Amino acid sequence: MFSLTPDAAEPRLHVARRTLERLRTVPGLAARYTGHAEPHRLDDLAALPPLAKDDLNTALAHLEPKAENGATWLFQSGGSTGAPKIGYAPTGFYMAGVHAHWQPLDPDDVFVNAWGAGRMWGAHFLAAALADLSGCQIIAVGSVAADEYPDWLSFFAARRVTAIGGTPSVLRLWFARARAAGITLPDLRKVLWLGEAWQPQLAEDMAAVAPRARRHGMFGSTETWVVGTNGPECPADTFHTLPEQLVHVGPDDLLDFTTLNPEMLNPVLRYRTGDAGRLVACPCGRPGPAMQVLGRRDSVVQVRGLGLHVEQVVARAEREPGVTQAQVLVTEQGGRASSVEVLLLTAPDAEVDTERLRKEILSATFTLSTAFQHDPQCFRVRTVDALISNGRTGKTSDLVVREDS
Ligand SMILES: [Zn+2]
Repeated sequence: MFSLTPDAAEPRLHVARRTLERLRTVPGLAARYTGHAEPHRLDDLAALPPLAKDDLNTALAHLEPKAENGATWLFQSGGSTGAPKIGYAPTGFYMAGVHAHWQPLDPDDVFVNAWGAGRMWGAHFLAAALADLSGCQIIAVGSVAADEYPDWLSFFAARRVTAIGGTPSVLRLWFARARAAGITLPDLRKVLWLGEAWQPQLAEDMAAVAPRARRHGMFGSTETWVVGTNGPECPADTFHTLPEQLVHVGPDDLLDFTTLNPEMLNPVLRYRTGDAGRLVACPCGRPGPAMQVLGRRDSVVQVRGLGLHVEQVVARAEREPGVTQAQVLVTEQGGRASSVEVLLLTAPDAEVDTERLRKEILSATFTLSTAFQHDPQCFRVRTVDALISNGRTGKTSDLVVREDS
């Protein structure tokens, strides 16, 4: 299934044919395209082999694309460990195409850009480009230190800030700190987000700090850039895809993305981000198929030879009253899991019975009860002051794997 009809997509497939031509010049990838016809129809496209993250990095290392106009920006792309892998984008970050279909900001807005800037991260600059097209005021804050929140929040209140944007993890910090400090943002109406799944617990803090605020989400990656957007009337996991992004649902509900934007520098041709999803009718009533994201298919981690579905463990922990966010930490020694821990971020004053939760998760999770049959004490549940975030990407993922040397 494709997000666009043949009538809408096929006149734009010349972009996919050009991408294929570029990929055929990459020594490590050329062979896999042997015998494949140029895509003139959607069926031809669905027959092409998909690209994984590493394939795209291989291609980019060879192609080194360059923007037609202005600068070519290098951003972190893919990989959660080691040296940054690199994606490319021209100034503007393709946001004109996004803005043509989605205008969460208007000229009267005072917008706090709270996505971290620097370290080759893309989201801050992408959001700045959207604000530029919207003609609003921008307050470019980026990331701040723990003790700086109250002063910045007071400044936001005084400036009558109407919009803020960041990853859900970062937004959680802003709203939780505001709530803790008793600061309200009565003028805040728009919360833009991108980079992680929406966190339902955010709604509670938003209601206390900024009762008029509503969420406006983007879905994308540094490889594909923005694929789709949503608004307050859409479920947080459902996005309306852009006409220059062709989304395909493959086996096992795996999504792959093909750019139909002739300016795209990354050779995005049936590129798999690891996200699963399906095409649905959005309850907001906007016609046409919308993309519902069902989570990541690569969130299964091997623990002592068995697959652990990290999302299920995190979801169970987050259903526990008082738990605001959970994370699975796998510690490995010589490639073998020596322990699995569920780290819990809890609400202030919450009392969570971690031992009861531990026993419940252990007995309910076949992988854990089997893998830790002889050393159940190596599966732990504990509360922490902060979850582990990736210093390189700035994201807080459900799963962290550490090598204990
Ligand atoms: Zn919708």
